[in-house]
Amino acid sequence: SRPPHHKRMEHKINVCVRKRPLNKKETKNKETDVVTRSGDLLYVHQPMTKVDLTKYLENMPFRFDYVFDLEDDNRKVYEYTAKPLVESIFRGSRATCFAYGQTGSGKTHTMGGEFSGKNQNCSNGIYAFAAEDVFKKLRQPMYQHLKLTVSFFEIYANKVFDLLNGSQRLRILEDKQGKIRVVGLVDQVVETVDDVINVLREGSRCRTSGQTSANSNSSRSHAVFQLSLLTPGRKAHEERTHGMFSLIDLAGNERGADTMSSDRITRQEGADINKSLLALKECIRAMGKDALHVPFRGSTLTKVLRDSFIGEDSKTCMIATLSPGFSSCENTINTLRYADRVK
Ligand code: ADP
Ligand code: MG
Repeated sequence: SRPPHHKRMEHKINVCVRKRPLNKKETKNKETDVVTRSGDLLYVHQPMTKVDLTKYLENMPFRFDYVFDLEDDNRKVYEYTAKPLVESIFRGSRATCFAYGQTGSGKTHTMGGEFSGKNQNCSNGIYAFAAEDVFKKLRQPMYQHLKLTVSFFEIYANKVFDLLNGSQRLRILEDKQGKIRVVGLVDQVVETVDDVINVLREGSRCRTSGQTSANSNSSRSHAVFQLSLLTPGRKAHEERTHGMFSLIDLAGNERGADTMSSDRITRQEGADINKSLLALKECIRAMGKDALHVPFRGSTLTKVLRDSFIGEDSKTCMIATLSPGFSSCENTINTLRYADRVK
């Protein structure tokens, strides 16, 4: 018989691009913005540097489902990407939303909100907006039997660490029904948006200051925030997952050499990240072609996401984040090529 993922006739992924404004450092260094938008087209200009981009230019312009304006805030990005997917989890589907881009391009800002060392605002990112909409729908009579739980973990060096349990390392295994499970993962029942904000704050703090080596530089790990809708049973083990939304702040996609110099990524870490991002791309592409073989085993990230991808009517979106300056130009082109390839 055919593998379960063959049921999905089309796996259409919605790919959008968001560029952040030039930051203080870039402005001080007199960098210019080399990324131009025209409708849904994006151009990267040849900057005045020694880097020769001619080999890449044949790919341009890139076309995406949507290209955001500099003025567009997280709310608008949410509405064009993750919001429609919230609807689908109520219909019993799985959904996945990725933020992909180089370190410093705005992945965490987009997904997690303005959470940084001094500012701990987790309420204006896609994680919180999605939770807010889930609660709105849960108030409708037809969904009142469902309950919401959230989990938050990171994947570093192909290992899973629970951000809601002091970065405890967890194993993943396939259960008797053939479902992938992260053993012992905290699945927190939440009843209000404030509950979710508290969870996000705890997890984000854990991601940036926890015990594992991943935490000294969160750009080395993939962070996975999951909203699960459960149909309650009479006993805990009778609970069934109705729908699930995985929101993922991916590890920085840069190639190592130019990562923040104060905390350089090791060759092994770079290799692990590249491998998992490549595995992700291969899986999305294979599903898009309705391929018989999807290489989920290529990385822990894709293993963990397997059930979300193969579910019937599952939906995926990707937000590719860009740094505008010419010093980021090669990474920007790599990001756009990746985003172009998964479409
Ligand atoms: P990443 O997670 O991709 O490494 P961050 O989300 O941490 O990047 O963003 C790096 C810095 O840029 C942060 O200080 C963040 O607040 C800022 N930033 C990112 N995106 C935007 C944006 N769209 N508008 C304003 N500031 C942004
Ligand atoms: Mg980040």
